[in-house]
Amino acid sequence: MSPQISIIVPLYNESKVFAILIKRLQALMDSLSVKIEVVMVDDGSKDDTALQMIQTSLADKRFQSVLLSRNFGHQSAVSAGMKVARGTEAVFIIDGDLQDPPELLGEFYAQLQAGYEVIYAVRKKRKESFFKKIAYNSFYRLLKKISYIDIPLDSGDFSLLSRKVVDILNKMPEESRYIRGMRAWAGFKQMGVEYERQERQAGESKYSWKMLWKLAYNGIFNFSEFPIKFITNLGFVSIAFSLIYLADTIIRKFVYGTVPQGFTALLFAIILFSGVQLLSLGIIGEYVLRIFFQVKNRPIFIISKQIVEGEEV
Ligand code: UDP
Ligand code: MG
Repeated sequence: MSPQISIIVPLYNESKVFAILIKRLQALMDSLSVKIEVVMVDDGSKDDTALQMIQTSLADKRFQSVLLSRNFGHQSAVSAGMKVARGTEAVFIIDGDLQDPPELLGEFYAQLQAGYEVIYAVRKKRKESFFKKIAYNSFYRLLKKISYIDIPLDSGDFSLLSRKVVDILNKMPEESRYIRGMRAWAGFKQMGVEYERQERQAGESKYSWKMLWKLAYNGIFNFSEFPIKFITNLGFVSIAFSLIYLADTIIRKFVYGTVPQGFTALLFAIILFSGVQLLSLGIIGEYVLRIFFQVKNRPIFIISKQIVEGEEV
């Protein structure tokens, strides 16, 4: 019999937290009456995470192991999990470090049965460093302002998705994946459940500032036309400005007979607008780059090994 729910856990160098994770998940599965499988996705770990995963899958058939051929990044790892998930009713996405308490599954599942297709977790409080908190906070608020879809504030990938929504997301071919945005885009009845984000149970964060920056970029450039509209408007404003300046110069010349001096003003204008042009090129480039990667049509991840029900497939 196929499992009803798949719990997806992306793992990258998580050997320190692995044992606690498995204990918590086993206890959770034992406590619920629905049939659950866990899909562990190893995102090219350099420690022995993959080895521990395989051992777990062989010992407990409820744990499926998927090994990616290299590190593809968190969003790709979750996408891989969603592709192979067998859960007929829903898919539950959590982080491997137990910052998202898996025990909330029961509460989320009740909402699924009440008719919601997407139940996403909303962080009430964050136990994170001061700067990360500020960065997250301002980013989510900025994205909400400029995005063409309504992405809920302070919600990450931690969510329960119905089979219907998972099938839709699996069919979406985008190369640059921002799952919380794609999930909002899919629509249907969605609801947020508040929770307190826990501290990482063991090991260190795998998201460097650089990766967070990239994720934020994907959010903005994949779900907003704002940057393009912004430079267009900037162009209009500059043209209007220069016309006013021209009119002013002509009036001065013919009415007062003075020709404006101003080497500094000239230099300032050149430097300013060179900057504006470079910025604009960069913004356009960002979209072109996305088109470039998309038309290559490469797979989002490559699976090198998969163990289902204790057997390699
Ligand atoms: N992760 C992954 N691939 C990566 C980076 C992270 O699969 O390239 C996993 C990681 O193992 C964890 C989850 O994604 O289960 C969230 O990562 P992390 O806790 O390091 O991020 P943070 O919570 O600090 O934002
Ligand atoms: Mg974490």
